[in-house]
Amino acid sequence: MPVPQETEVFVIGGGPAGLAAAIASRDKGLRVTVADWSRPPIEKPCGEGLMPDSLDALRQLGVTIGSEHCFPFSGIRFLAPGVSVSASFPSGCGLGMRRPVLHQLLADRAAETGVQFLWGARVSGISSEGVVVNGELVRSRWIVAADGQNSNVRRWADLDAFHTYKRRFGFRRHYRVTPWSDCVEIYWGSGFQFYITPVGPREVCTVLISRDRHLRIDQALEGCADLKKRLQSAVPASAEQGAVSLSCRFKQVVRGRVALIGDASGSVDAVTGEGMCLAFQQAVKLADGLAAGDLSMYAAGHRRLMRRPFFMADTMLLLDRFPGLRDRAIHALSANPAIFSTLLATHIGAGSPAAIVTSALPLGWQMLTAGGP
Ligand SMILES: Cc1cc2nc3c(=O)[nH]c(=O)nc-3n(C[C@H](O)[C@H](O)[C@H](O)COP(=O)(O)OP(=O)(O)OC[C@H]3O[C@@H](n4cnc5c(N)ncnc54)[C@H](O)[C@@H]3O)c2cc1C
Repeated sequence: MPVPQETEVFVIGGGPAGLAAAIASRDKGLRVTVADWSRPPIEKPCGEGLMPDSLDALRQLGVTIGSEHCFPFSGIRFLAPGVSVSASFPSGCGLGMRRPVLHQLLADRAAETGVQFLWGARVSGISSEGVVVNGELVRSRWIVAADGQNSNVRRWADLDAFHTYKRRFGFRRHYRVTPWSDCVEIYWGSGFQFYITPVGPREVCTVLISRDRHLRIDQALEGCADLKKRLQSAVPASAEQGAVSLSCRFKQVVRGRVALIGDASGSVDAVTGEGMCLAFQQAVKLADGLAAGDLSMYAAGHRRLMRRPFFMADTMLLLDRFPGLRDRAIHALSANPAIFSTLLATHIGAGSPAAIVTSALPLGWQMLTAGGP
C-alpha cells in the first residue's frame, strides 16, 4: 500500500488499542490510516482473557467472536495454600482466546469499516503538520498514539510526565491440557501470581507475574504445588515469552492534535486482566472527541475510565506486597464469598463503588475475627 499524502486521523500502532481507535473513528465517518511496523496477526505475551466488560466494548465496535475462536469462563477463583474462593460474573461470561486470533478479528473488522493500513511501516516522527512514515510526511488533522507502553510518540509530544509507575514482569506459556476449571484461576504464591485462562477445549494460557525479573515459570511452579500437579503431565504448547507489566498513570493524555490511547496512555497491572478492555473503552470515547473536534472530552473520559481499574490494581499489588494481609484477606473472602462476588462485579464495572465501601467493612471484620491461615 503506498503511503497516502493526507488523512484525517493517523493512528500510530496497530495493536488492540490502535485498531479499536481506528474502528471507532471510522464509525464516526472519519478517514483513518493505521501504521504498524509489524504485520497481522500480531503476537504478544498476554493472559488472553477477555472479561465480560471487554466483550461488551468489542460488541460496541462491531467485533463478533465465533465460538470456534474462544473458550468461555464464568468467573474468577483466587487460590492460596489451603484456601480458595471463587465468584461468577453477575451476568454473561468471559472468553479466553489466543492473542493473534483476537488481533486478526480486530484487523478484519477495521478493514471492513474502510480503515487504510500501512503494515510493515515505521513511524519515525511527528510534526505540526502530521506524521513521518517510512521517511515521508503524511498530513493529518489528528494523531493517535497507540504505540504501546514504551511509546515514542508520547515522548515526542512531551506527554511523558507520570503520577504512578510500578513495574512487574510477566511470562507466558500455553499448555495442552483440558481446562479443569470454568474460572480464570489466580494462584497467589510467595512474591508472585500465576493466572490460568482456558483458551480452547484442550489448551490453557499460563502467566506468571512477579517483581523478580529473573523468576521463570518452572522455578515458580516449585513454590505452587497445586498448580504444578495440574500441569505436570501437560505438554507445553508454546515457548515461554516475557513482557513487562506496568501500572502507570500519565499526567496528561492529550496535547494539541495528539491523543494517547491503550498502553501508551497508561496501563494497569496485567493481573487485573483489564488492559485491552480499557483500550476498547477509550477508543469509543476518543472517537466521540475526534468527531466533536474536542480532545478535552476524551481526556476527561479517559480519567474516569482509569479510576476503577487503578483502584483494583492497587489492591492486588498491595496483596502481592504483604503476604500476611493477602492470606488473611483470602481466608476472610472464602468465609464470606458474597463479598468476593461484589468485588468481582465492581471490578468489571457491574457494581457501584459504594458497594466496595459497604463490602470493605464486613471484610475488615472477617479479617479481624475469622482468623488467618
Ligand atoms: C504478561 C501480560 C499479560 C496480560 N494479560 C492481559 C489479559 O489477560 N487481558 C487483557 O485485557 N490485557 C492483558 N494484558 C495487557 C494487554 O496486553 C495490553 O493492555 C495491550 O496489549 C495494549 O494494547 P496496545 O495496542 O495499547 O499496545 P501493543 O499491543 O503494545 O501495540 C502497540 C503496537 O504499536 C506498534 N508500534 C510501536 N511503535 C511503532 C512505530 N514507531 N511505528 C509503527 N508501529 C509501532 C507495535 O508494533 C505494536 O503492534 C497483559 C499484559 C501483559 C504484559
